[in-house]
Amino acid sequence: MKNITLLGATGSIGLQTLDVMREHPHQFRLYGIAFGKNVDKAKEIIAEFKPEKVVVQDEKIRNELLINTDQNTILVGKEGMEEVSADPETDVLVNAVMGSVGLGATLTAIKHKKQIAIANKETLVTAGHLVMKAAKQYGVDLLPVDSEHSAIFQALNGESQKDINKIILTASGGSFRDKTRDQLQGVTVTDALNHPNWSMGAKITIDSATMMNKGLEVIEAHWLFDVPYDKIKVIQHKESIIHSMVEYADKSIIAQLGTPDMRVPIQYALTYPDRLPLSSSKSLDLVEMSALHFSKMDMERFPCLAFAYHAGNKGGSLPTVLNAANEAAVDLFLREKITFLEIEQVIENAMENHSFVKQPDLETINEIDQEIRNKTYEKY
Ligand code: NDP
Ligand code: MG
Repeated sequence: MKNITLLGATGSIGLQTLDVMREHPHQFRLYGIAFGKNVDKAKEIIAEFKPEKVVVQDEKIRNELLINTDQNTILVGKEGMEEVSADPETDVLVNAVMGSVGLGATLTAIKHKKQIAIANKETLVTAGHLVMKAAKQYGVDLLPVDSEHSAIFQALNGESQKDINKIILTASGGSFRDKTRDQLQGVTVTDALNHPNWSMGAKITIDSATMMNKGLEVIEAHWLFDVPYDKIKVIQHKESIIHSMVEYADKSIIAQLGTPDMRVPIQYALTYPDRLPLSSSKSLDLVEMSALHFSKMDMERFPCLAFAYHAGNKGGSLPTVLNAANEAAVDLFLREKITFLEIEQVIENAMENHSFVKQPDLETINEIDQEIRNKTYEKY
């Protein structure tokens, strides 16, 4: 029996993690959760799974929750998430919060040698060098939850790092894959939230429409698999059936396929190196599928992908800037303060006006993250 601490329990990945746990009540116990604002959903989770530790975003939510439950161990904020991540009772940390707010918890879990299932890709984008250095130092594996990275992880199983020719990340193309740049001028929040293949949280759905999600995933792949950026390629694959691939020195390609269902990579990160049945997930019917499509990724059509390659290649503090500007811009777009195409302008401006730091430590990263957000919110 493994004790799971689930950060972001009320979100899309969080709820699907709970689905997986429901299927295997003898393997997993929910020890701790963290959530943001969704008190109603949190109450349901607490009533069903009875976690011992609950972390809330702030004091206001703590008070709301106290009125509504008899839960008495309630921790607060980033410190609360770090405390529950370090807790001796936590065996596995599933980090599924949205945004760089998850960084401290990831680093804390590494220092306490927890098994870590990482969905929170912003952690790896904003401070990949620190996270991977700590993971190496403490001998901790970061098990990817992101479907592309789970696919690569599975395709790499047992192969030698030096034999990798390239990693091929597949991209669905997001909500606007068939629109021209002209047509993107007037798109609305509702249009952008309508993803063709996956049902996900709002922020990552917008990231998929701008292609920033793929950009963040390029940086995530660089850190997780220690592969240089010129060996990480992106192609468009509209069906989201091949989740990603690795090409080896002999040109052999190993791919991982399945119906688009996040519960599969979530479960694998919880059970690795073993596999368990997942009865709620559907088998892929390739005959019914009959054809899969691939096309070239257009960097001009999707400048956010180019920004991410640039930030990743340059390294230092630039990925932190890219991520913080993107988080703020997506939030502003969701609140209808800026247009869809202004998201990329916000990010480009932030990157152009930033005073570059070559090897930022944690404090510098947190400062830059906050400064970029403040500047962006001041402007709009
Ligand atoms: P959601 O927006 O659905 O969920 C985010 C979760 O984080 C919610 O539980 C939210 O709480 C919580 N949260 C937000 N801010 C805070 C905070 N300050 N303190 C504590 N908790 C907080 O996002 P997703 O589940 O879609 O995504 C989560 C992560 O997983 C992201 O990094 C995303 O990129 C990654 N990911 C998601 C995929 C998906 O299919 N959804 C696929 C691959 C990666 P509340 O709702 O209560 O406010
Ligand atoms: Mg993904």
